[in-house]
This record gives sequence, C-alpha cells and structure tokens, in this order.
Amino acid sequence: MARPKCCRRVAGEPPCQIFKPAGVPSSALDHVVLSMDEFEAIRLADLDGLYHDKAAERMKVSRQTFGRIIGAARHKVAEALVKGLVLRIEGGEIQMAEKRIFTCMKCKHAWDVPFGTGRPIKCPACNDAAICRADGQRGRRRLGEACPRGRS
Ligand SMILES: [Zn+2]
Repeated sequence: MARPKCCRRVAGEPPCQIFKPAGVPSSALDHVVLSMDEFEAIRLADLDGLYHDKAAERMKVSRQTFGRIIGAARHKVAEALVKGLVLRIEGGEIQMAEKRIFTCMKCKHAWDVPFGTGRPIKCPACNDAAICRADGQRGRRRLGEACPRGRS
C-alpha cells in the first residue's frame, strides 16, 4: 500500500519566494516551481548538512522519499541557475512544524522550542525545573493543498 503523500513536515517558510535573474522581466522568462517540501529538503540536507535518514525523519517521510524529493529539488535549482529561469517556491503537500511553547511556573518566563527537539528540562531563565507546556498558544498552519485526514 502506498503511503499518503501529504503532510511532509517543514520547519519554516522561505524568506523569499521568488528568485529571478536581474534585469529581465519575469514575464519574459520561464519559471520553475520548487515546492515547499523540496525547499525544506535543500535546507536540511545542503544547508544544515543532515544525513538523508535524519532529514527524512524531520520531514516525516521515508528515506527513499526524501531521496526523491532532494533529487528533484537539486535538479530544479540547477536548472534555474544554468538556464537563467525564475525560481518560485510555493505549494506542496506540507504541514508547518509547530513550535512548542513552554512557560516557567516560577519566574513566568516563556520560550518556544522547535519541533523535533526534546522537551526542555529546566527554565533557561532561572534554571527551575517547574516548567509546563503552554497549550492554547500553539499554532499550526498548513500551506498548499488541503490534507484530508484518513487518506491512505
Ligand atoms: Zn524560570
């Protein structure tokens, strides 16, 4: 049975969604679209230098799927560079990683911890261990296509 394609986890949005060759109107250029999951694969493997198995784990996909995503991503980036195309980053079946917010019961310090890291042991401000998850402040967003639950 094929695994559902949806909900690859990405840690953040790109700071810029369009890269284009300078001095040429984008209407005169061909476009290549890099999906958000492909962008995330480049971030994890090529910028952060993660091994594919680790990067796959972060994105909640298999090692094989990650290999396909990063392969497609590199090809698109290479094509944009070599052929002078507009590169747009958008879409993809993804789920933004949630940030977990913790608060300290003692000093009321609040801080967030990115998804995929362990639960903090103590408050970074006062070193007290009386910390709790500040639910209700959690944000979860989705970009791109809708992701129906229970699809298989
Ligand atoms: Zn504290």
